[in-house]
Amino acid sequence: MAVGRYHRQEIFYPIGPEGQKKLQHARVCIIGIGALGASVANMLAQAGVGYLRLVDRDIVELTNLQRQALFTEEDVEQQLPKAEAARAHIAQMNSEIEIEAKIIDVNPHNIEKLITDVDIVVDGLDNLETRYLLNEACDKHGIRYVYGGVVGSGGMVMNVLPGEGPCLECLLGPLPEEGSYDTCDTVGVISPITNIVASYEAAETMKILLGSESVCRQAISLDAWDSYTEFFDVDKDPECPVCGKHQYERLEHRQKSYTASLCGHDAYQVTPEDDGSFDYEAVVKALEADGDVKKNKFFTTFKNDEADFKLFPDGRAIINGVPSGEEAQTIFAKYIDR
Ligand SMILES: [Zn+2]
Repeated sequence: MAVGRYHRQEIFYPIGPEGQKKLQHARVCIIGIGALGASVANMLAQAGVGYLRLVDRDIVELTNLQRQALFTEEDVEQQLPKAEAARAHIAQMNSEIEIEAKIIDVNPHNIEKLITDVDIVVDGLDNLETRYLLNEACDKHGIRYVYGGVVGSGGMVMNVLPGEGPCLECLLGPLPEEGSYDTCDTVGVISPITNIVASYEAAETMKILLGSESVCRQAISLDAWDSYTEFFDVDKDPECPVCGKHQYERLEHRQKSYTASLCGHDAYQVTPEDDGSFDYEAVVKALEADGDVKKNKFFTTFKNDEADFKLFPDGRAIINGVPSGEEAQTIFAKYIDR
């Protein structure tokens, strides 16, 4: 009998042919398709996880290629969204699985829809705000979540198993103030640590999907440059607002629109309330009277003397060359939400 694609995984006794079938029926959502997310997506596709949802708002840029292994110079040239570029590359490696690319900004309006029809969520995010929101949404719906984060040469991993163990907020405490902690934009990040953390995340995801007794119940802290890996216990805090009291401050704080500064870019992202009323085609048509419009499959670029932005079909825009969120809002109101 010919051996199949998953032979080496099926003869690995903790998985076996039964485990392989379970993986093929599993559904995983990966939020953030940068260095961590793309690498986790690649490994889970290799392992034969049957359905992957890849969620990311960004476009592949030259500075991503130093650590985000799936992407190519051609993706940069074509300005492909990361979720779509990753989907296309992974589909070439495994055509037997279903992969869905979601080119959206995760916010309190859409996060619950993204995570409630999957078995597990994997963290590939690059910012703490969205992680804390994800932690709340997963606690609310009892969805298991594998946290992974990297900065510089260090990283951390922890499984968040609602009802069983501590959550992200038990591990990290209240969300620190913006600017008070290191990020990849301030201190950089190197590729070896993203790959190590992604590998731990992929292995934990597989174990959780299989109901393995080897699921890690501790947090893991590691550093690729200082050469250490530590495992430590995290207590579930009965006073934790999320897993102790089930209060979902971020999830329920639904603003009409969101403005976020995009680190490392002279740009702000404006995300309107997602009430389904946004008419992308009509807005693009109206823009044609005001300046230079270039439309591709994934977004529209607009330029005139006053404004320079990318508009996405979900109504979100990245406004370039503005000094503040207020100015970004002004341009958004004038050209998009008019
Ligand atoms: Zn907690």
